[in-house]
Amino acid sequence: QEKIQHVATETVTAEPVAVTPPTPAPKIQKPYVLIGSGTASYAAAQAIKEKQPDANVIIIGNEEYAPYMRPPLSKELWFSEDPEVAKTLVFKDWQGTERNTIYQDVSQYEVIEDASGSDLQTNKIKLLLNKQVTKLNVEDHTVTLADGSVIYYNKVLLATGGEPKKLPGQSEKSDKIITFRTVSDFKKLDQIAKDGAHIAVIGGGFLGSELAVALAKRGEKEKLTVTQVFPEEGNMANVFPSYLTKWTTTRVRKLGVDVQSNSAIKSIKTDESGKVVLNIGNDKQVIADHVVVAVGIEPRVDLARDAGLEVDEKRAGVVVNAELEARTDVFAAGDMVSFHDVQLGRRRIEHHDHAVLSGRHAGENMVGGAKPYKHQSMFWSDLGPEIGYEAVGLVDAQLSTVSVWAKATAKDTPAAAAGSEAESPRGTSAIASTGETGKAATASNPFHDEKFGKGLVFYVREKQIVGLLLFNVFGKVQEARDIIDAGYTTEQIDGLLKKFSLHQE
Ligand code: FAD
Ligand code: NAD
Ligand code: NAD
Repeated sequence: QEKIQHVATETVTAEPVAVTPPTPAPKIQKPYVLIGSGTASYAAAQAIKEKQPDANVIIIGNEEYAPYMRPPLSKELWFSEDPEVAKTLVFKDWQGTERNTIYQDVSQYEVIEDASGSDLQTNKIKLLLNKQVTKLNVEDHTVTLADGSVIYYNKVLLATGGEPKKLPGQSEKSDKIITFRTVSDFKKLDQIAKDGAHIAVIGGGFLGSELAVALAKRGEKEKLTVTQVFPEEGNMANVFPSYLTKWTTTRVRKLGVDVQSNSAIKSIKTDESGKVVLNIGNDKQVIADHVVVAVGIEPRVDLARDAGLEVDEKRAGVVVNAELEARTDVFAAGDMVSFHDVQLGRRRIEHHDHAVLSGRHAGENMVGGAKPYKHQSMFWSDLGPEIGYEAVGLVDAQLSTVSVWAKATAKDTPAAAAGSEAESPRGTSAIASTGETGKAATASNPFHDEKFGKGLVFYVREKQIVGLLLFNVFGKVQEARDIIDAGYTTEQIDGLLKKFSLHQE
């Protein structure tokens, strides 16, 4: 303002000219900085833009890709018929709709090359790729990148996800022993799988089980053998009750995976011929061309810890309040957050839907919302064409369970388990309980001679239903959510069953 007046007085003696004051440059707001370019950051960016379209939003990620979803990397992409799938990253979802693993094309963002681009005026979400955030300073409201540049933030979101754990002695450099989390890991494994190799997958949890089945499926077409090695008694043993683990393991074997359960890795080395030799105890060895290590993740909380934020050491996550705020102007979401679930107590959740819901919620609160995070997230997993499940709440094999099984119709699961050695469910209204240890009550096994077609597993803590697993039962997630939120007890299970029409053909 002052400057314009000054110019005007100086021209007073000259020819009278119409002075048009220069249009003031639009004021760039200090940005909303989202650290991590995963699902939680993407969801937060969308929510911020919906509430405040002109908000200055920057996503900073250390990967080379625009934000993408991880679930298809261990499932749908492996079932694609397209030999170019590792290039297109296109998959078909359960409705048969074609989707891309990358949420939106990189051209829909304003890709900036360095921190100075953060003062660029644009309505698009800004994206800084291949950049590592090395420091968060919550006093100064800054983040520092590995190249030394500094970005001032208005509010910041920590959404750094988790780092795949390695086996003791696993070399950083070996290209024979890899972890699996990113699009570039998928591309690597896709190449390996094409070479007709013997691949050993280590780990019996979500990732190990999904990948083993996906690779075996690929192996039907190409010369590929798959071995899965883990210390538990069967697939998904940390989640499923024991009898369901046994049944599932039988199914995974039928799908072509050589499952080596009860096998902890004693040593892992590469021999002269370049093969990886796994010593799995009892004088047994697995000799593979490549090994995929899927033994869980470690949430990335270093930035937060170094910034003096509170870390929940038990759950290894950054502690936030009900609004997902770690301290004023610092939010956290996704795999790395330890939050308070009003129904179930403090939790940390490593699943996609939680990353979406908590990311969105944090985003809304960053632009002025002040709502507590109360969404009860769900997760799903699929092990080949026959096994699909969805779950809500606490599903942990350590809890006691009450299960209800029905015979599946062709709609629920395809082919029957001919020759299955697993304990199987009774056709109608079978209720099985497990004790506190999570061991199945097999003494009067009601499931003789039939398979676990479809069913419900209620997880119970001090009589309260705290988790619900929907096994080959689809479209009932909201019903499950309502049950967890209402805090029903085991006595009420019979009455709750009608919500699930389990016995309808
Ligand atoms: P992430 O998706 O891990 O994103 C974090 C990002 O931040 C990463 O790109 C990371 O590189 C980046 N980053 C970290 N630190 C920094 C830093 N300092 N500077 C810059 N960038 C940084 N869940 C389900 O519910 N269903 C499924 O079927 C399912 N399938 C899965 C399949 C696979 C193969 C994997 C790996 C996971 C799967 N999950 C599934 C889990 C789900 O993908 C995660 O819960 C989800 O990705 C968590 O999102 P996030 O944004 O918290 O973290
Ligand atoms: P996980 O925590 O589900 O399973 C870890 C597994 O590691 C255990 O089941 C155990 O078998 C194994 N393990 C641990 N130490 C071992 C050792 N020393 N030797 C051999 N095996 C050992 O983690 P994950 O399966 O690695 O999955 C990685 C992440 O991706 C998790 O956050 C998971 O939730 C997520 N994910 C989720 C889905 C889904 O929701 N459908 C699918 C894939 C991945
Ligand atoms: P919905 O559960 O009513 O499903 C619609 C249809 O898809 C039904 O015919 C059902 O039989 C089928 N279906 C759903 N989940 C399946 C599974 N896990 N395995 C096999 N078939 C399945 O509900 P919706 O809201 O239309 O879809 C949400 C569901 O879709 C989620 O619960 C999840 O299981 C799945 N999903 C998958 C992805 C992915 O990337 N694979 C992404 C989002 C959702």
